[in-house]
Amino acid sequence: MSELRSALDDLAGIDLAELSDDTLLDLVGELSTTANRVAAALTSAVRAADRREAYRRDGAVSMKAWLRGSCRMAPEQATATVSTGRRLEHLPETAAAFAAGEIGAAHAHVITMAMTPGRIAKAAEAGIDLGETDRILAGLARATAPHETARGVKQWVAGVDPDGTLDDAADTRRRFTMASGLDGRVHLRGDLDATGGEYLHSALTAFMNGDRPAGDTRSYAERQADALVALARGALDGGSLPDVRGERPHVRVTIDWMALCAERGAPGVAGGSLGWAGPINPETARRLACDASVARIITGPDGLPLDVGRAQRSSSTAIRRAIEIRDGHCIFAGCDAPPEWCDYHHVVHWAHGGPTSCDNGALLCERHHTCCHEGGFTIRRDPGTGRWHTYRPDGSEVLSRAGP
Ligand SMILES: [Zn+2]
Ligand SMILES: [Zn+2]
Repeated sequence: MSELRSALDDLAGIDLAELSDDTLLDLVGELSTTANRVAAALTSAVRAADRREAYRRDGAVSMKAWLRGSCRMAPEQATATVSTGRRLEHLPETAAAFAAGEIGAAHAHVITMAMTPGRIAKAAEAGIDLGETDRILAGLARATAPHETARGVKQWVAGVDPDGTLDDAADTRRRFTMASGLDGRVHLRGDLDATGGEYLHSALTAFMNGDRPAGDTRSYAERQADALVALARGALDGGSLPDVRGERPHVRVTIDWMALCAERGAPGVAGGSLGWAGPINPETARRLACDASVARIITGPDGLPLDVGRAQRSSSTAIRRAIEIRDGHCIFAGCDAPPEWCDYHHVVHWAHGGPTSCDNGALLCERHHTCCHEGGFTIRRDPGTGRWHTYRPDGSEVLSRAGP
């Protein structure tokens, strides 16, 4: 400590007016990191004293009271320091970033504030890995100002505790939770009574027992997961759900205009985001924006909306019907998934000027629509024969391995 003190004395002796602009700015940056490290050391020391109840030696009732009395700390700062120290014990990555001075006390505070024991328990129950959450949030804090970090934290909270009712008495007889895990996955968990389970099972079975496309190698669990999503898509597409804030409910994708126009795999392209589930990669955002039934919000470089997708053009339904009749099923080589499983794919993406038309449209099941956007496959229709051809990312054609 005495060395630290004498270093600070030396620092106070520097004539700042003598320094060049560069040296001065370097010093400010250096001191900012050092201040973070000192704040982290203070937090650790407070935590150690808190854990062994050292404040009792001075007759204080709590560490917080001791900080207020002996250090004349503001009550909110005392509370923040004690609680940050306690919760950082469960967040080693955030603690390490703080100790290294890479993030400040304000960053550590916004992260630890959200990490209540109740939420941590709920996240664990939903299968969300706390270590992964810690790594993601620490990475976000290293790259952003505290108020921006707070936005990421809020997203985690919304996923884990969407209605803020964590303290409600849990009804263990029926419950269903969904949590978006910041890692691009959504975790589901729940219990139903026998009647509720029967309804859900009957609906899922209806989707699972339809004609299975040739070459379907999905496991039972994968098919059941796909059936659940299909059930939701069918309800949204059917238009029978109640309006939400005066609008027909549907999936909404936000994507940057530059990202929409970029080639697949182009470097440095921002991803898109979904209203609830959060960030998605640019290829996935382009695929969702490709289907005319998905509402899209296109943003400019400043993040402000440029265009809010034309709501449900009347022609798109008629065009889709025509394509369903023409194609009959998913047109990817070797697939015969039925139309109700399929998206309307723009062969030339509308962002590149491709029209929503029969000529430019193709039925692709979700799996193969994903192949065409995320996977780099392409499809082309021979105008002479009317037959569809499928090409791998290397340009070679996927040919039928059986039959003529
Ligand atoms: Zn598409
Ligand atoms: Zn397919």
